Amino acid sequence: MDRRSFLTAIGSAALLPYLPQRSKINASFRRCRPSDASWPTQAAWKRLSDSVQGNLFPVDLPLSTLKANPDSAEAKRFAKDLRNPFFVGDQPGLTQTLGWVDAWATQPSVFAVAARNAQDIAAAVNFARENNLRLVVKGGGHSYQGTSNAPDSLLIWTRHMHDITMHDAFVPRGCEHAMQPQPAVTLGAGTIWMQAYQAATTQGAKYAQGGGCTTVGVAGLIQSGGFGSHSKHYGTAAGNLLEAEVVTADGQIRVANACANPDLFWALKGGGGGTFGVVSNVTVRLRGLPEFFGAATFTIKAASDDAYHNLIREFVNFYREHLFNDHWGEQAHLKPDNTFEINMLFQGLDAEQAKKAWQPFLDWVALSPKSYSVGRVVIGTLPAQRMWDVQWWKDHWPELAFPKTNSFIGFFDHVLADVLQPVLDFDDRPGAGPGNAWWKGDGGQVAWFIWGYESLWLPASLLESDSQQRLADALFASSRYTTVELHFNKGLAGGPRDAIAGVKDTATNPAVLDAFALAIVADGQGPAYPGIPGHEPFVTDGREAATRIHKCVDQLRAVTGQTGAYVSESNYFEKGWQQAYWGSNYPRLAKIKKKYDSDGLFFVHNGVGSEEWSADGFTKP
Ligand SMILES: Cc1cc2nc3c(=O)[nH]c(=O)nc-3n(C[C@H](O)[C@H](O)[C@H](O)COP(=O)(O)OP(=O)(O)OC[C@H]3O[C@@H](n4cnc5c(N)ncnc54)[C@H](O)[C@@H]3O)c2cc1C
Repeated sequence: MDRRSFLTAIGSAALLPYLPQRSKINASFRRCRPSDASWPTQAAWKRLSDSVQGNLFPVDLPLSTLKANPDSAEAKRFAKDLRNPFFVGDQPGLTQTLGWVDAWATQPSVFAVAARNAQDIAAAVNFARENNLRLVVKGGGHSYQGTSNAPDSLLIWTRHMHDITMHDAFVPRGCEHAMQPQPAVTLGAGTIWMQAYQAATTQGAKYAQGGGCTTVGVAGLIQSGGFGSHSKHYGTAAGNLLEAEVVTADGQIRVANACANPDLFWALKGGGGGTFGVVSNVTVRLRGLPEFFGAATFTIKAASDDAYHNLIREFVNFYREHLFNDHWGEQAHLKPDNTFEINMLFQGLDAEQAKKAWQPFLDWVALSPKSYSVGRVVIGTLPAQRMWDVQWWKDHWPELAFPKTNSFIGFFDHVLADVLQPVLDFDDRPGAGPGNAWWKGDGGQVAWFIWGYESLWLPASLLESDSQQRLADALFASSRYTTVELHFNKGLAGGPRDAIAGVKDTATNPAVLDAFALAIVADGQGPAYPGIPGHEPFVTDGREAATRIHKCVDQLRAVTGQTGAYVSESNYFEKGWQQAYWGSNYPRLAKIKKKYDSDGLFFVHNGVGSEEWSADGFTKP
């Protein structure tokens, strides 16, 4: 059965326009599909189920509720829940991104093992290997590239593995003579960062370097490299990994750290998820907390293209002089309508110091009131320990909505009642955990369907005086196409030596070390899925947006060259992805892949070793 008739047969023909055309492959090796005679018998599945204490079940696509009976109360409730990342994460048949125009659309596995421990994972790995199945691994389910779902596959789902153990003095196994004990936390592979932060920071008064989005999975993020708001100071999540327990393709449960299986350990630190084995837990370094975390947010609207161009030029110089250090992370957005938006976070400064840092830029803007209108400027701090304390945010909302000057939130200029909107959204399902919350800024990406997404590291050399004009020109030119986001926390240049040393010892593209920021350009639409009336992806709009995104990033490439892209926040169609994601680290990663998974049991789109496979990971020529 060819791919088209197969999709038609399973009622998924609606997906065809959204998926890329694949070249024909003369298969000499084919993984097994349910329609094949070699598909495991019911008795074989029963044996797997028994070996994982019954935690094996068939998977469906919950989205079909919207199609079957769109006006029902159930469908309405589902449509609402589809905007809740905790609900989406609880569905074995859903992913946080629902698809990408001309690339992929989420599809359920045939069966899932809801793993509870490394033994369950090993049983599933052995079963997949012995029965020649396509295997897929899902933790937080946030892959933009669709690497945690695949039709006709067996899913290892780690959602329920979220045990957390704090250590005062952790030494990686086998490193007793080589490393000093240090504070650390062990996190089950299915832990999401909100759970990790609540244990490490809210309760433990320490800092663990994870991601910005609260619902991203720990194992997926660390294997991506992993940037959080304060990575400029603390390094990447991978750079803070001390140890991982991992089930390799041979079904062995291995410890990987600087002393045991150090090659595998290095590959897990940024070499990409779903590629080298299934991680069952990770232990990450804990650091001291600063007194405050803080935010600076405002928008400036320029009255003309020239004024906007000048503003960008001034900001580039200002950034170089005042913000290019380990205090400042997160984002500036450059929009095509000549709006410049700052949403930056800082650590290690108090509100007065942070205000002082911004003063020269705001003074410069204030000199030209006809050229620039400035929105409300908010610069303030909160106790660092309360950053992920959901109860604290709930208790302080009235204060945030009606702040007093010089209270814990300081304001640069006038104070208005609506300056600070509530920043968190909550899981409102009955019985939901009290800590189930997410930043409003991440809400737009829950169940979204991507139109286009690209990233590019911007070398710090562009901040040198004689390059600033070129950079400003390129940023202005790129902003003519669509919004350019500068993520300063995703470039390590300007960070302290220990953070840089930690990241240097990971598989992440070394371009990150010399970059002052990662530029991200992306677009998509809210909950959408092919074949569901009223929720169809806008394919034409999507393709146009993808073209704009590409042209936009090309303006930046003209001054950066091919620096590289962040593996987990990048283009599904990335050309030369091996070089773009891993640079000079790729040959070493490819060798480690061969050593631990010579038959390619673990396959993900554009993952290490995936060039040997068909695009869907089923056939090997
Ligand atoms: C809304 C949103 C916000 C984001 N914010 C950030 C951010 O602030 N910083 C940042 O660096 N990145 C960010 N990302 C990217 C994110 O870090 C990566 O997509 C990451 O891989 C997601 O991990 P996950 O477990 O949630 O996703 P999944 O889709 O479950 O997994 C991602 C990949 O890792 C594999 N994987 C998952 N668990 C395991 C395991 N236990 N063992 C082996 N392989 C596994 C999967 O097979 C898949 O290939 C964001 C993504 C989204 C959608």
